[in-house]
Amino acid sequence: MMADVQEAFLHGQLLERRQRLETALASSRRNESLRQLLHEVDSALERMEAGTFGICETCHDNVEKDRLIADPLVRYCLDHLTASQRRALEQDLELASQLQRGLLPRRNLAFAGWEVCYHYRPLGLVSGDYCDVLTHQNGSEDVYFALGDVSGKGVAACMLMSQLHAIFRTLVASGLPVQALVERAGRVFCQSTISSLFATLVLVRAGQAGNIEVCNAGHCPALLQQGGAVTELGATGVPLGLFCEGVYPIQSAEMACGDTLLLYTDGVSEARSANEAEYGAERLKKLVASKPGLSAQALVAACIDDLDDFQAGAPLLDDLTIMAVRCVA
Ligand SMILES: [Zn+2]
Repeated sequence: MMADVQEAFLHGQLLERRQRLETALASSRRNESLRQLLHEVDSALERMEAGTFGICETCHDNVEKDRLIADPLVRYCLDHLTASQRRALEQDLELASQLQRGLLPRRNLAFAGWEVCYHYRPLGLVSGDYCDVLTHQNGSEDVYFALGDVSGKGVAACMLMSQLHAIFRTLVASGLPVQALVERAGRVFCQSTISSLFATLVLVRAGQAGNIEVCNAGHCPALLQQGGAVTELGATGVPLGLFCEGVYPIQSAEMACGDTLLLYTDGVSEARSANEAEYGAERLKKLVASKPGLSAQALVAACIDDLDDFQAGAPLLDDLTIMAVRCVA
């Protein structure tokens, strides 16, 4: 079913490309590279007809799904690219990685009443984690902190991450209340993505007086550290992209000077040690409770140190991000 939906989507994309190529060819008949592209689009459409679309022509295994979504013309799995194809792919990934790094906020930021620090660790060159710090351009002192996780990994997830980035940049500037903002973002995201992909997300609006509003769309709970106590602010809605009409009630809290809100993606809580034990949300929560009084930067460093100790060199399984927002008013 999921595969059918994706193939129908890619089929539509190919037909659209075909039309554009024909239009372009109409005005430059002798353009060989356009002809070659048209030929490749037609042969992809033929493979769909024949039921061989998405199957590597060398080993007859499935081609990686995220690569097909990014480019429906690919015909070989990663293991069976030619040397020049492999080089081109590596260069593309390196560029995507640079573009994605350019979307991240500065690592340590201070605003009226708040300091924020984050650690962003992609599994490969690109990440499906979304991380941003946004301010109003209209004179309001509110600051927005966003952390999200797009389903899947690799290039397709990275593309959706940049889409989320653009959607929230636009909507925050519109000055909508948090709940309305996330609901609208959910509709836009839902309409612009294939239905098998979605994103979990926490959006926080922080006011100058220490008041916060938290909207959690199917994401790991935000951890509110106040002294040695930690309160979880869990999901109040489903991930974005699952339903166009999702409803996202907000949770409010008052933070005093020294209180910290910690956001993380499941790459942290689901990290594994060499003997396959899971790091777990409970361990993170206990750690945060045991570290009151740290700066945002020091708390993030303590979390990463503990995680690295636990993993002891075991391979990363997912993109991971941790963000700490500390009230310093
Ligand atoms: Zn292959």
